[in-house]
Amino acid sequence: MVLGCGKWKYTYISTCFDIKLMTMRKISFVLTLFTISILSAQDVYLQCGTIIDTKSGKVLSEKTIVVSANKIKSIQNGYLPGSGTDTVIDLKNKTVLPGLIDMHVHIESEFNPQVYIKKFIDNEADVAFASTVFAKKTLLAGFTTVRDLGGSGVNIALRDAINKGLVEGPRIFTAGKAIATTGGHADPTNGNRKNLMGNPGPKEGVVNSPEDGKKAVRQRYKNGADVIKITATGGVLSVAKNGQNPQFTIEEIKAITSTAKDYGMLTAAHAHGDEGMQRAIKGGINTIEHGTMMSDETMELMKKHNVFLVPTITAGKQVEEKAKIKGFFPEVVAKKAAAIGPLIQDMFKRAYKKGVPIAFGTDAGVFPHGLNAKEFGYMVEAGMPLMEALKSATVTNAELLGMGGELGQLKEGFIADIIAVEEHPEKNAATLEKVVFVMKEGVVYKNE
Ligand SMILES: [Zn+2]
Repeated sequence: MVLGCGKWKYTYISTCFDIKLMTMRKISFVLTLFTISILSAQDVYLQCGTIIDTKSGKVLSEKTIVVSANKIKSIQNGYLPGSGTDTVIDLKNKTVLPGLIDMHVHIESEFNPQVYIKKFIDNEADVAFASTVFAKKTLLAGFTTVRDLGGSGVNIALRDAINKGLVEGPRIFTAGKAIATTGGHADPTNGNRKNLMGNPGPKEGVVNSPEDGKKAVRQRYKNGADVIKITATGGVLSVAKNGQNPQFTIEEIKAITSTAKDYGMLTAAHAHGDEGMQRAIKGGINTIEHGTMMSDETMELMKKHNVFLVPTITAGKQVEEKAKIKGFFPEVVAKKAAAIGPLIQDMFKRAYKKGVPIAFGTDAGVFPHGLNAKEFGYMVEAGMPLMEALKSATVTNAELLGMGGELGQLKEGFIADIIAVEEHPEKNAATLEKVVFVMKEGVVYKNE
């Protein structure tokens, strides 16, 4: 539109006057008009002291990112002032990065000892109101995109409300309700007394055959989910004895992943135990969540099938800590939390060394939302250079979500998801836990 306006001015003037008669001064006047009309579009000029190119790992200094509507229009050398109607934001003392992407959150909830009771007390509207708070915390922490791996289904409505601009939050890709087996991790009636157990089926996300699996995927598609999540093994927080047993047959997994593929949905498998992970990988899953007890053989299998590990080290650390508080978890959960929590970071260390593809993800919701960036510190501690962790949380995750051509980089034409921190994070990864500037799709949500 702006360009059209500029062109129009040039054409108008060149047809009204004979160009040969114009003095150099007039030509320069026309060029000035042309330039002013380009610059007068109420763009946002971000004057950036340091920019991290998370794709190449290069660090750029003294640039201006010009944002027009929801896109990055250009990245220019030096600090451009913009024109009268433009907004100029001074980030000269900051380090600027693309908005971060977390591949594993539960945006509807935040764990506390009451959650086991709350499922009998809270109505959908209660869950929905609380979820708007978690969404905002996540966005203001610099996570402009998240993949939500399971809740009640309120997550789908939350995604839509954010897209409509009714609620402030990150861009959400959601699984809706995760798919489990009877009594497995994410069976919604686990731990209930018998007359409240009912008989949940594919609609509620509980399957017991390949046919059930197909139906559960199609139901999620119908509900508006973007991705499919299965609980391939037992889990920590469910009221059930085993946190690592395989809970799906490979035939069930294959039915789920092939159906998801038909519908263009990415698949994720929660897995702590090795056998369940192997079945998930051989069954065609795209990402393994947690991966706690992953053997060397399974790591090789991950590489062979190009399956990404979503490490969630922060969740491991947090449940390990909380398991020490008496009564925080039910007895059966506390035992699993104490055993499984401490293993994740060490597994990640081995997986990284072996070259397993890594997709940044935290399991926020198991711990308070907004603390997602703690994961960077844990990844660095385990041997992954910060620049690689950042690439994983931006470029890699955008590609996995099918948005590699428009998200996850500060690049001309890309969606303007831009954040800033006080220091260069390579000097201090913890600076990522204190994001001072957040822009999503060209809108500024935080500027401290
Ligand atoms: Zn999770």
